[in-house]
Parts: sequence; structure tokens; C-alpha cells
Amino acid sequence: MKLLEERIKQDGRVIGTEVLKVDNFLNHQVDPALMKAMGDEFARLFADAKVDRVLTVESSGIAPAVFAALALNVPMVFARKKKSLTLSEDHYTADVYSFTKQETNHVIVDKRFIQPGERLLLIDDFLANGQAVEGMMQIAEAAGAEVVGVGIVIEKTFQKGRVLLDERDVRVESLARIAAFDNGEVVFAD
Ligand code: 5GP
Repeated sequence: MKLLEERIKQDGRVIGTEVLKVDNFLNHQVDPALMKAMGDEFARLFADAKVDRVLTVESSGIAPAVFAALALNVPMVFARKKKSLTLSEDHYTADVYSFTKQETNHVIVDKRFIQPGERLLLIDDFLANGQAVEGMMQIAEAAGAEVVGVGIVIEKTFQKGRVLLDERDVRVESLARIAAFDNGEVVFAD
């Protein structure tokens, strides 16, 4: 998505060899016009997927997910992160390791908000090693729901998440794909 790539070039900051900071428009300050354009693009890409619900993880997945859900005219639910897990029969849970924060979050979704048999579109801000998407897939499976697609705002193709998802035969659409960081510059794939 050209608009997003331009914005990454303009405002993205490369941290070390693997992390891109986009807190100017996505991870802290949020650009609503760009979020809307991204939501519309996800809806276009998954128009034929018969999506019943959008699922994401708090917090940075929420903005693109809500605009995708709006454009698809379906509900959106986000998995909440909990530091400690009080086991409850009312929630689906998964453990998600974050390599940027180097900590494991327990993520939970109330059972009322995913119905068995629903067709889910998973959305997240970044695809790195695939842990967040993997956690959402575990929740979908526990709920008896079907993952019909994964929509990613920024995919880093040099980390292992995409390979993992391809092995699981799940349809992934990314709005921007980064092949490498070269001396602090973003190199896009394709
Ligand atoms: P994964 O679970 O695929 O390893 O990583 C995805 C999650 O980690 C995303 O939800 C995102 O919050 C965070 N993340 C991964 N890579 C980056 C990055 O380069 N920049 C930022 N800001 N967050 C990232």
C-alpha cells in the first residue's frame, strides 16, 4: 500500500537491526485518516472471505482492526493482555511472547465474544516471529472458530512469522512488507 510505505519512509525510525518504530502514526500517536484507508484496504482484500468478526490483540492492533471491521460491517474484539492469569472458565487464553518487550503476556478473550463456527479475520500491526498471530489462532481454535485470513499492517519478511503462517496454510495479506533494514533505512520487499 503506497500511502503506508510513504508514511513509513517519512516517519519510521529503525531501532537496531530488527525493530521499526512507528509511534508517530500507529503505536502511540494514531493517524485516523491512514487507519481508515488501511481498514478499507483490508476490507477490499478480504471481501470474498465472508468474515463474521475481526480479532486483534491490544493495543496497537485495535486502530487498524476497528476500521477493517467498520468497512466489513462486522464486530471487532481485541484480546486483552493480562500480567497474571487467574484461570477462568469464561475466557479463552493463550501465551504470547513478545520479542520487542522480551516478556510473555497471557492474552484473554471473553467466551461471549467469539462464537463457535464464526469466520475470523485476524489483524495485527506487525508480523515478526508470528507469536501474536499464533496466540490468536489458539484462541480461535479453542472457540471452534475458523481463521479465514490474517491482515498485517507491517510485515518484516526477514523474521520467521510469515514462514510459520505459510506452513499453516493460512491466507496472509500485508499492507507493507519490509525485506531488510540497511544502515537505518527501510528496504521494502517486491
Ligand atoms: P510477533 O508476535 O509476530 O513476533 O510480533 C508481533 C508483535 O510484536 C506486534 O503485535 C507488535 O506489537 C510487536 N512488534 C514486532 N515487531 C515490531 C517492530 O518492528 N516495531 C514495533 N513497534 N512493534 C513490533
